[in-house]
Amino acid sequence: MNEITHRKHTRPVKVGNLVIGGKNEVIMQSMCTTKTHDVASTVEQILRLEEAGCQIVRVAVPDERAAEALSEIKSQINIPLVADIHFDYRLALKAIEAGVDKIRLNPGNIGRIDRVQKVVTACKEKNIPIRIGVNAGSLEKKFLVKYGYPTAEGMVASALEHIKILEDLDFHDIIVSLKASNVKLALEAYELASRSFDYPLHLGITEAGTLFTGSMKSAAGLGALLSLGIGNTVRVSLSADPVEEIRVAKEVLKAFGLAANATTLVSCPTCGRIEIDLIPIANEIEQYIESIKAPITVAILGCGVNGPGEAREADIGLAGGLGKGMLFKKGKIIRTVPEEIMVEELKKEIDSMYEHFKNT
Ligand code: SF4
Repeated sequence: MNEITHRKHTRPVKVGNLVIGGKNEVIMQSMCTTKTHDVASTVEQILRLEEAGCQIVRVAVPDERAAEALSEIKSQINIPLVADIHFDYRLALKAIEAGVDKIRLNPGNIGRIDRVQKVVTACKEKNIPIRIGVNAGSLEKKFLVKYGYPTAEGMVASALEHIKILEDLDFHDIIVSLKASNVKLALEAYELASRSFDYPLHLGITEAGTLFTGSMKSAAGLGALLSLGIGNTVRVSLSADPVEEIRVAKEVLKAFGLAANATTLVSCPTCGRIEIDLIPIANEIEQYIESIKAPITVAILGCGVNGPGEAREADIGLAGGLGKGMLFKKGKIIRTVPEEIMVEELKKEIDSMYEHFKNT
């Protein structure tokens, strides 16, 4: 079993109707690629993200137009909205006023402390947290000078400095990320951070790459951290439709038993014993079960030789061959049907298992 039940102790931090940290599930999030001032496109993308399972969404707020669009966006979506602010505290105040559920901002980048104080006061009034986002690529010069180049120590030192600014203002609803596109550096930084403070950690391998390479790097990095019990929320960063980020995040969480009520597909790699055209069937079933919110494992196997036995852990499965499809549950054959209808019959079994799950 690869279930992980332990998580490193972190402080619970409320984000809208969710809580990041504590004993809560690992939350999946993404970021819009649309121009935030384009409300229609942004809302359309967020609704697609919601449908895919995204639990928190972030939008860039680079200017007034973006800040002014936030309340309209917020009124049309169902998941917590995060405003990503870089340097301008006035944009942060506008975003908070507009009703966002969290802001991403590094207090040390704002400048004067009275301005940080204004942002903190507004966050306290609305009970919303701040995510400090340290990025290896934009580490402050003093830490680069001290450590020579971006290091885990430098990144954590930067995070601690931003944290101290907020703590000195008696603000503790903090979430921290320490992103790097170098997987090893990100791992070291998050591990060191988990030993240095107990604020929840937002995991990410930044600028990971395209759908394929970025997914691999993210799975390697996030997987290693999650396996250590580190990480309270994840964002996979891909040069792709953000819906793909959620699909990848969900698979990574599933691999560690951290995604509640998610289906899993088991499919054989095929070999010389293959007796059906398995790959399109596996893809069709993978798509079919994507929207099912139940912990059901479905197996697709290319022959009956090792089939049901190989997939004993699956709740339901299909082993095809010689013009027939063998349907099995928990390794036991339940019936054999003609090849032409085997995929439809498998879908019926999946539907009935889902109905049973919903009614129990
Ligand atoms: Fe080969 Fe059959 Fe195993 Fe698939 S299930 S890998 S076809 S032996």
